[in-house]
Amino acid sequence: MDFLTAADPQVGEAVRAEYDRQQQNIELIASENIVSPAVLAAAGTVLTNKYAEGYPGKRYYGGCQCVDVVENIAIERAKELFGAGYANVQPHSGAQANFAVYQALCQHGDTVMGMSLDNGGHLTHGSPVNFSGKNYNMVAYGVDEKGYIDYDQVRDLAKKHQPKMILAGASAYPRVIDFKTFADIAHEVGAYLFVDMAHIAGLVAAGVHPSPVPYADVVSTTTHKTLRGPRGGMLLCNDEAIAKKLNSAIFPGSQGGPLEHIIAAKAVALGEALKPEFKEYQTQIVKNAAVLAQSILEGGLDLVSGGTDNHLMLVDLRPAHLTGKEMEHRLDEVYITVNKNAIPNDPEKPFVTSGIRVGTPAVTSRGFKEEEMKVVGSLICQCAQDDFESKIDDLRAQVKALTGKYPLYTNC
Ligand code: PLP
Repeated sequence: MDFLTAADPQVGEAVRAEYDRQQQNIELIASENIVSPAVLAAAGTVLTNKYAEGYPGKRYYGGCQCVDVVENIAIERAKELFGAGYANVQPHSGAQANFAVYQALCQHGDTVMGMSLDNGGHLTHGSPVNFSGKNYNMVAYGVDEKGYIDYDQVRDLAKKHQPKMILAGASAYPRVIDFKTFADIAHEVGAYLFVDMAHIAGLVAAGVHPSPVPYADVVSTTTHKTLRGPRGGMLLCNDEAIAKKLNSAIFPGSQGGPLEHIIAAKAVALGEALKPEFKEYQTQIVKNAAVLAQSILEGGLDLVSGGTDNHLMLVDLRPAHLTGKEMEHRLDEVYITVNKNAIPNDPEKPFVTSGIRVGTPAVTSRGFKEEEMKVVGSLICQCAQDDFESKIDDLRAQVKALTGKYPLYTNC
């Protein structure tokens, strides 16, 4: 960082400020994580200089022998980690990966089913403002009144609409997803099953959430959430013909040159995920989420579906007469970072919402365990109380005590 600041003080100081913010704040955004120093180092290598359109062994540029080695390592590790026959590690992001799946398996205008955004799905699962909602005839399913995916509704809608593809996976769903049932429904109506496991990929890799890989025709993921790699995407499948279509849909279909420095960082993260410690880490993420959920419930707030099975939960703020926007702001003031999030059938607008989404991957990377999560839950609940303003200094001090105990990147 000192080198960067000397070369470009403006950018260097902005990066330093972000580093300080990450040190100071309790990071509870469920889709974020804190990568290892090795992942960070790989992302900042000379591989950023290299053009490598194509795939290992079949490139449109010379001088690709070294990046071929790196990309092959990433592919082989992805296949081993998830038990998949094929992997494409080039998607620049989760949205790019999902775009390529639609391109590979569907035609514009085809019917596709996905979970609605306000029930926990992602923008790319059919939102009208996204390519998915614009280019395809999207049919949305959602959760029941208890907050669980309504598989009967999924089956009824699938029979009625005969989709080409059914998309399973979510950005804000705190419960286990039954991929086998999704596969049964999809295959009953002759649809592809596409699972977007972006949020839970780390849990799946460690065996603490059932894997979609044996059931789905295609699986996409981001690499930067629970998986704890660099920002990016990845595709997995077990069928050679589908793998060929996916490869073409990524390059040349929708991307140009792959980001080989990011692929190197993905390879490092996948290597870390293959180690036994990764299972311990993922198990701790889930334990931490369970303790946090309990602590939030004891503090008087509600959770959608009453709790969590995975790394995240959705706090329903209506009992505290607060909106998600207000709560996000209050937490920010005391150095706790979350995002406002719609709850199912939210009466508020998407930019206001009645909830916040809270997750444990980043704090678990930092070293927080059950004891710290109890404190975090109590801090969140105190922020929802009427006397919040009078407690700000005390809350900040408690946050600083926690983050000070678990500093980031001490050896960098
Ligand atoms: N899929 C799911 C389930 C997500 O939650 C997200 C991002 O939050 C994405 C895809 C998109 O990933 P990216 O932001 O890398 O495009």
